[in-house]
Amino acid sequence: MFWAIVNNEKVRPQPNTFGTCPTCGGKVHSKCGEINDWHWAHYKGQNCDPWYEPESDWHLDWKMTFGKECAEQVIRKNNEIHRADVLTKENVVIELQNSPIRKGIISEREEFYGQRMLWLINGGHFKNNFQIFELDGPHHRWSSEHNQIKNKIGRKAFQWNHARRSWAEVNRHVFIDFGTDTLFWVRSGMGTKTGIGLFISKKDFILKYDGDYEYYQEQFELRQKKEEQRLLENKKKEDAEKSKRIQQGHMRLVRRYRKRKRW
Ligand SMILES: [Zn+2]
Repeated sequence: MFWAIVNNEKVRPQPNTFGTCPTCGGKVHSKCGEINDWHWAHYKGQNCDPWYEPESDWHLDWKMTFGKECAEQVIRKNNEIHRADVLTKENVVIELQNSPIRKGIISEREEFYGQRMLWLINGGHFKNNFQIFELDGPHHRWSSEHNQIKNKIGRKAFQWNHARRSWAEVNRHVFIDFGTDTLFWVRSGMGTKTGIGLFISKKDFILKYDGDYEYYQEQFELRQKKEEQRLLENKKKEDAEKSKRIQQGHMRLVRRYRKRKRW
């Protein structure tokens, strides 16, 4: 949870502060570490909303894009209470899903929020199993690199190996975020091995739902830079270890050679 109520205001966490959960009214405390994005946590590690999933920077970027007035909105219906990830000014619920989800939870969420909801799924975890190619063109250009498909216009076919089958009976629109400048809007075959979809630009999507595209773009570039930095550092570490191993191997040879000389 990225917002809690402090002094009647919806605020982001600061180190060592306390607040109230807007959903259940329970006391929450700030978690401001170095690895995860700063968030609020319930006590005893319990979260009040059974649909809760651990939040990631992917969640934070999308929620912040739609602004604190629209993110994490408490919705009550028939004695049930849930926290919608995003409720737009035009009353559309955007549910963000980062991790695998059970079929039952998908239909529960759809029923609770009704026709006005849509799914935005993080495809980063399965992008290598999800290939997209031209449906109508003369050349079936296979590509698993979603940002390298030349023509993003028109219907595309997809092949999804190890498809996440719990999505097969989804009843709302699904948009998959593969970490590029577009979203893949699945038109049929969600959760199955093959299907059809369209690319739509993130800019159009964000502006359609009154989000802040500039903010999103800024964060997007920042995350990409961080990721590049991380990969570069990993590579450096690997190279250093490799040369250390070579060096050690070399020293072993020298020692063996010296030993033999003594004979
Ligand atoms: Zn709560």
